Amino acid sequence: TKVDNPYTGAKVYVNPEWSAKAAAETGGSRISNQPTGVWLDRIAAINGVNGGMGLRAHLDAALQQKGTGELVVQLVIYNLPGRDCAALASNGELGPTEIDKYKTQYIDPIAAILADTKYAGLRIVTTVEIDSLPNLVTNTGSRPTATPECDVMKANGNYVKGVGYALNKLGDVPNVYNYVDAGHHGWIGWDDNFGPSADLFKQAATAEGATVNDVHGFITNTANYSALKENNFTINDTVAGKSVRESKWVDWNRYTDELSFAQAFRNQLVTVGFPSTIGMLIDTSRNGWGGTARPTGPGATTTVDTYVDGGRYDRRFQLGNWCNQSGAGLGERPKAAPATGIDAYVWMKPPGESDGSSSAIPNNEGKGFDRMCDPTYTGNARNNFNMSGALPNSPVSGHWFSAQFQELMRNAYPAL
Ligand code: BGC
Repeated sequence: TKVDNPYTGAKVYVNPEWSAKAAAETGGSRISNQPTGVWLDRIAAINGVNGGMGLRAHLDAALQQKGTGELVVQLVIYNLPGRDCAALASNGELGPTEIDKYKTQYIDPIAAILADTKYAGLRIVTTVEIDSLPNLVTNTGSRPTATPECDVMKANGNYVKGVGYALNKLGDVPNVYNYVDAGHHGWIGWDDNFGPSADLFKQAATAEGATVNDVHGFITNTANYSALKENNFTINDTVAGKSVRESKWVDWNRYTDELSFAQAFRNQLVTVGFPSTIGMLIDTSRNGWGGTARPTGPGATTTVDTYVDGGRYDRRFQLGNWCNQSGAGLGERPKAAPATGIDAYVWMKPPGESDGSSSAIPNNEGKGFDRMCDPTYTGNARNNFNMSGALPNSPVSGHWFSAQFQELMRNAYPAL
């Protein structure tokens, strides 16, 4: 008995732990009542890390928040073997071959808890394995962006198997709504990546006993910074004899922003065999790009680059930058059914939680040091050798980063 859009007519769970951290920040009470994702980012998170809330504690708190109305709880399933194969900052606890451990010690216990009839009245949204499958398309084989770690995960099939297994087991729970992670427009918006990613999602959604009916939809822009809607230029504009697609920023991508990408990718997914009822989520936690640097109109029409660069809200050096981006702001507040084909704008990445440390910091979470989080780094093939654009002095991924939280509030768009 699933509804078409779980967000319609429902409140969304406010994670008390995130809320308390936000409220403790100067000015943080302006957003501390917003719903954010609960990340199950390691096996221990199921029971709670360092005395923190585990999955049952969150679901019990969700029942309290629900009262007599409807309530959505947002979980992030994030613990694949060989996690984060094209980066180091969110490498996880499971090695590339540990698929059985993933199944029996991670997915099975989560599925068992979600299936408890006590929680049958909740609408449980699970966003499945952030930044995994697209890596197999874009960061493998003969591509200049390939990494040995992604080649391994493509060859051993454990991302596909893991996602299939998760979708199958979680999808068996009548009140669970699976949304598969679909990267963002600055990743799979190019022709070489768009169709092949949809095909790979279909493959994963039909692996390990899963079917396309285990998929309720997809989420884009999770923990990323791609602007929701660039109003100052469109993909069809031509300036000084050149298409916007030829600008350095767009670089032949088909899409200029997340909304147009998510809607088009939804159609592609239906074309390859997903149900026509699927809906998209867009993570708008950190893609606001407001503040004083936000352009108020189109750029000069001198060249296509002055036009695009002068008008774009997204102020990154390059679309491939993903770590603690300087200048970013909170985006649209979480909202149900905001646009055609979109089930909700959500804050899946909790604002204020780091994407990775700006220098090596020892930890027991499996997290590495990725130079994309180092503001002095001059880049690699995956960001076309641009500066990283990362904020300095950041902690390990997932840890509280007060300076970023403050900047996100300052640069919020819509403003707070
Ligand atoms: C980290 C996770 C964390 C999540 C949410 C990811 O980058 O790897 O540990 O839970 O961000 O902040």
